[in-house]
Amino acid sequence: TFHAGFEPGHPPVRVRLGAGVRHEIGAEMTMLGLSRALVLSTAEQAGQGEAVLGELGALGHGLFAGAVMHTPVEVTETALAAAAAADCLVAIGGGSTIGLAKAIALRTDLPQIVLPTTYAGSEATPVIGQTVGGVKETLRSPRVQPEVILYDPELVATLPAAMTVTSGLNAVAHAVEGLYARDRNPLSDQLALGGIRAFVTGLPGVVAAPHDLAAREETLFGSWLCGTVLAQVGMALHHKLCHTLGGRFNLPHAETHAILLPHTAAYNEDAAAKALAPAAELLGGPVGGGLYDLAASLGAPLALKELGLVEKDLDEAAELATRNPYWNPKPIEEAGLRALLQGAWEGSRPQ
Ligand code: NAD
Repeated sequence: TFHAGFEPGHPPVRVRLGAGVRHEIGAEMTMLGLSRALVLSTAEQAGQGEAVLGELGALGHGLFAGAVMHTPVEVTETALAAAAAADCLVAIGGGSTIGLAKAIALRTDLPQIVLPTTYAGSEATPVIGQTVGGVKETLRSPRVQPEVILYDPELVATLPAAMTVTSGLNAVAHAVEGLYARDRNPLSDQLALGGIRAFVTGLPGVVAAPHDLAAREETLFGSWLCGTVLAQVGMALHHKLCHTLGGRFNLPHAETHAILLPHTAAYNEDAAAKALAPAAELLGGPVGGGLYDLAASLGAPLALKELGLVEKDLDEAAELATRNPYWNPKPIEEAGLRALLQGAWEGSRPQ
């Protein structure tokens, strides 16, 4: 029941999905009355950025191929200078490149057209994380929500298999935490279940045939569903733990999510049994174990030790993750978290 009412509100966004839709940037710009796009990418994806700029022709203002992880303000400031004469931003990439577009939009309100190339889901949220003086801060503003999202399955087809799996599980994490979020609503529940279903059915196909565009399209749709959940409701233990470990021990974003998710879901399994029941049905059993088996079957990394984290750091990680209290379906206590981290470090299947 939602007797008390709910507001499924987040800023308006135009979404297009389909093979070849990346060729529609010019049409989207023209529709919005825009004519000078600064294209953004990482250095690794500069080739894709150049291809976009080339295709834009006279609508292209330039390429800034300097996006990096964690959106440091120093990079944003350099990019702001490059954006001075532009009237919009076109981001092609994952969460890091989209983060840079959001950081520029926060300061300039330039419209953003984004072409996601991972499943992280940042394009669907009005949230930005940026690093100021080495400290990551997160803020929410309608200004940073990209106006247009062009999901082209041909773009994710180049995502290496390992990153495909971890990035997909990163998206599933938004949905799992969305299901038991304190402020969940009937719409976020449906988005979350649809997102989990898209990855559970789509990811095996993508791993078996990375260039299968139908499976890529299904998983990209899942990415939008899961990202929209992230935009709507608050996250809990899983995201806090990933944030803490990523920030303190410099662990890679998607891999950390993929490894921790079965363990954080198992931690919350009993306390959130009713909310997680539809996910358990999709996974064919308890969510923690089901997610572990899914990850294992897809060849995902299963143990934090594989990421270079050393066992003696687990005490500090558990202490850090309990330092600032936050809501979670099951109360957070240090001994329980320490046990969770041990299991995730060893890569054992959660019970
Ligand atoms: P990423 O953007 O850092 O990409 C990782 C690497 O893969 C980069 O080198 C990138 O250039 C490369 N890459 C990306 N797509 C590729 C493709 N299709 N083919 C070949 N190479 C490709 O990784 P990510 O996991 O998408 O993003 C992580 C960042 O996004 C984190 O900083 C995270 O905090 C942020 N994030 C923010 C939100 C939000 O709502 N604000 C949501 C999710 C993630």
